[in-house]
Parts: sequence; structure tokens; C-alpha cells
Amino acid sequence: MNTGRPSGGALRARLARARLLSHPRLLGWCDAAILRSSGGARRRLVLLRRQVVDAQLESHPSVARLNARIERRLLGFRPRWNGRPVSQAEIWDLVSREPDPARRRAGYYANEPLFVGLEPDVRALVDARNHRAQELGFASYPEARLSLEGLSVRSLRDLSAPVLALGRTASSALREASPTGSWFPWDMMFAQRQATAHVRRGFSAADCIPAVRAGLKKWGFGPADLAFRFRRWDTPTAGLALHGQLPADVGVVCNPRDGIVHYSVLFHEMGHGIHGRAVRGPSPLFRSVGFPGFAESIGGLFEQVTCELSWLRTRPGISAEEARRLRASSYAALAFRMAELVGEVESELRLYGRADADLTGPRRRFLHGTLGYDDHPPISWVDPYHLSPGFHRASYLLATCFTEQVVAAGKAATRGALWPNPRWGPWLKRTWLRPGQRDDWVPKVRKVTGKPLGPAAFVTTARQEMAQGLAG
Ligand SMILES: [Zn+2]
Repeated sequence: MNTGRPSGGALRARLARARLLSHPRLLGWCDAAILRSSGGARRRLVLLRRQVVDAQLESHPSVARLNARIERRLLGFRPRWNGRPVSQAEIWDLVSREPDPARRRAGYYANEPLFVGLEPDVRALVDARNHRAQELGFASYPEARLSLEGLSVRSLRDLSAPVLALGRTASSALREASPTGSWFPWDMMFAQRQATAHVRRGFSAADCIPAVRAGLKKWGFGPADLAFRFRRWDTPTAGLALHGQLPADVGVVCNPRDGIVHYSVLFHEMGHGIHGRAVRGPSPLFRSVGFPGFAESIGGLFEQVTCELSWLRTRPGISAEEARRLRASSYAALAFRMAELVGEVESELRLYGRADADLTGPRRRFLHGTLGYDDHPPISWVDPYHLSPGFHRASYLLATCFTEQVVAAGKAATRGALWPNPRWGPWLKRTWLRPGQRDDWVPKVRKVTGKPLGPAAFVTTARQEMAQGLAG
């Protein structure tokens, strides 16, 4: 996620904004004004205060300069394969397609020289962020970020235990189904690709963009909702949405390859794009897709279309039985990914607890002990998710919980299935997208779904789907 690149350059613009919002008396002024106000004015002041905290945390020169330096090195890096520079998409293909395990392993570690080289800078960034958070009165940077949306490290950890238990079940099921004798991270993507090899025709790279657009149309989104810039381009993450001045300035970058996972990624990124185009509000304070806590929730909800039997059946060569298997394997992969995320979030919390903490030992134990991989040296803990806004990964955990809960509520509200259902787009826009920051999402989830945000809905559905998949 990015907040746009004015012609002056992202760093210069961020520093100018931080200078403006860092007046020593501004936060005190906001607090006093909030106490004196009510209704819409109060909401504006609350949102302004969050923007001030965000700018003082993340755009302070000590943080923004380090972030910009890491970003430059990350975006300028090209991994090498067989002595020549290749794209991140080619590395993805290699790890998921290469039959020789030694070559797959080499592909998996292809970004390692970059990440290891960035470790000292990322530790310094973490230190600078914590320092800023503590100066603003927070216990740590993760607490500060989560607090912007009424969350805390404790509420995040409440999600973890049931998710980890489910992840262990998914891990043994995936391992058992794998065609490789070993079980390393570089076997995982290969195994998933092999499992869907016979239905590859249904998820070709060439058809990905038109198929996702057609899927969104049947969900009730029209050309105006999709009127954002789209570029097919290589990124260090699978896809990227860029939100500038909303709702006018929205861009989506993606480089789809063959495979169902790329269809999910594209639905996800298009979700970010549609979200950015839909927000409305009387001031720019309202016209935002949210702070990191819920930034991924809408993307996650759009991805869910690719788990629907009715959508899977529209893909060429997919029978009812295949669709059922694909749905079960998507849930197993998601359960595994959620457990992986819990481990990654814990690793980040350890880092924010102590910037010089040893992360390798605990990660190695987690990968082997909890995720069930054969013992191996963990790949460097550095990745693009340390870039601004930091501690972003937590929002993927929240997104999956959000999605499963909101799907149930949306089905009731739209009186129909998740897909195809042309009433979904208007409902999503009305309930979640258009209001922007008018409401906080923690109480809104409770109001719309009747329950506080939690992992129960996801765990129940995933357990059910995985059991049916195994029974088949
Ligand atoms: Zn996203």
C-alpha cells in the first residue's frame, strides 16, 4: 500500500506533511477540541488526531528516511538465476514448477542476498518506530498502529490459538497429499501446483484479467467501479494497490501467471481498487480506505469469490467434483497460511520487543515444530512487509476473520449466494466501502454481523471444508 507519489518525490512530500503535522501542541489541541465537540465535528477531530499520530509515527524523518532507503534497495533489486537477472514472477514460477528439488530450493532463497543485506537497516527502522511510539505515549509501535483502529496486541493474540490448531491439521493434510518425499517451503508451492495440474486450463494467465473482470460484473460492479489505472507489472509482492487522493487517484499493479492463486490475488487487488474508487465523504479525512488494521479486509473478501463452487464451475474443465476439491484445498492452504501469519506476526512482535532480538532460532523452531516442515535454515526474516506502514501483516490475519463473518451477514442482507449475486456489489459499497472512515470498523463488524470480530466463523468453515475434502 502506498499513499501516492507527488511529483516532488514520495520522501520529500512525506517529510513536508510530517513537518506540518508535528507541531508540539497539535495533539493537545486535538484532545481538547474533541472534548468540546459532538456529532460530525467530533468525528472529524478524531480522524484528524489519528492522521497526526500516524504522521508523527511513520513520516518522522528518523523513520521516513530509513524506510525510503530500504524501499529503494528493495525495488532496485533483481534476483539472479543461472547467472542472469530475472523477475520476481520468474522466481515464483521456478519454485512452483521446477521438478528438481535442489533448483526449487535455490529459487526459494533467490532473494536472500537482498534480505540479509537489509537486516541492519530494518532493525534500525524498528528501533526508530518504537522510539517514536514511546515518545507519543504508546508501549510499542505495534500497539500504536493497532490503536489507530481500536485494536491492541492482546486482541490480535486472542485470534491466534484456534488458528494455530487448525494450521497444524492443514499442515499434516497438505504434507500427506504432497508428491515430494520431503516437506520444505519450496515443496509446498510445487505440491499445490501439482495437485491442480489437471485443471490448469481453467486458470490460465491469459484469461485471468478478463475472467476476474467478468466475475466482478456478476457481483454487481460496473465500469465506473473499475475506472482505475491497471498495469501488468512485476512487483516484490504478488500484487499492489496504490491509493493517492481518493476516490480519483487509484492504481493497481499485478502480474498474473497460470494458476488459481493468481486469480485470487487479482480479485484481492481489484477489491482494493474498487474500495479506493468507492469511498465518499465530506472531507479527505473520511475518504480513506483505513489504517492498516483493516486495510486488507476488503481485499480478503474479494478473494473469497475464488472459493465459491458456483464461480469455480464457470472455469473451463472444472466439474462439480473438481470444484469441491478445489474449495477444500483452498481452505487447507488458507488455514496453513493463517498459522504461518501467526508465526510471522509473533516474530515481528519479538523484533519490536527488542530490535536486536534473535529471530532465526525461534523461527526455525516454529517452522519445524508448529508448521511441520522438515528442519531447514529459515529464509531471512526481512521482506517488503517491513516497509511503511509497518506491522501491516497483522491485517491479513484480521482480513480472513472479517471475511468469513461478513460473508454470512452479506448473504442474509442480499438474500442470496455470495456469487453470482448482483446485489453484493451495491451492498458492499453501501455498507463498507462508500462510508470510508465515517465509522470505526471494530464496532461496525459487531453491528453488521451481530458478533465481535473473531476467528470462530473462519475456523468452523475451514474445519468443515477440510474434513469434506479429506473424506473425498
Ligand atoms: Zn492487499
